[in-house]
Amino acid sequence: MESQTNKCPFCTIEDGFVVLMTETAFAIKDGYPVSKGHTLVVPRKHVANLFELARHEQLALWDLVERVRERLVEEHQPDGFNIGLNDGLAAGQTVPHVHVHVIPRYNGDVPDPRGGIRWVVPAKAPYWE
Ligand code: AMP
Ligand code: ZN
Repeated sequence: MESQTNKCPFCTIEDGFVVLMTETAFAIKDGYPVSKGHTLVVPRKHVANLFELARHEQLALWDLVERVRERLVEEHQPDGFNIGLNDGLAAGQTVPHVHVHVIPRYNGDVPDPRGGIRWVVPAKAPYWE
């Protein structure tokens, strides 16, 4: 990996966790999955913020997100996905190496899934109430 850091869990990831790999990015199974198939798409370059990547690296990351999604559809037949990233400590980022969460969702996995990522701010999430 480029700019490896000893402390970063993604720069030191074990091969067994890697599900797909390209020239600039790789996909790993999340170590603490919130759903069956929860996968992280990670650039090889160790940077905290998506926009520190060159545009072609951002696009390559997104290409891999699409491939991961297709693979998860085949593997687990989920009913939906939450796809996104936490940008910064205030937004909840806990690993300072960019990663896109690809979270398969299944009918009935929570009592009421409405709002999805709006639940990062629980008090404001249910705008329909
Ligand atoms: P975030 O809070 O958006 O930075 O997400 C960090 C993600 O990394 C979480 O979903 C964790 O479950 C995952 N994670 C943390 N450490 C490891 C690790 N050693 N191997 C695989 N996934 C990890
Ligand atoms: Zn790293």
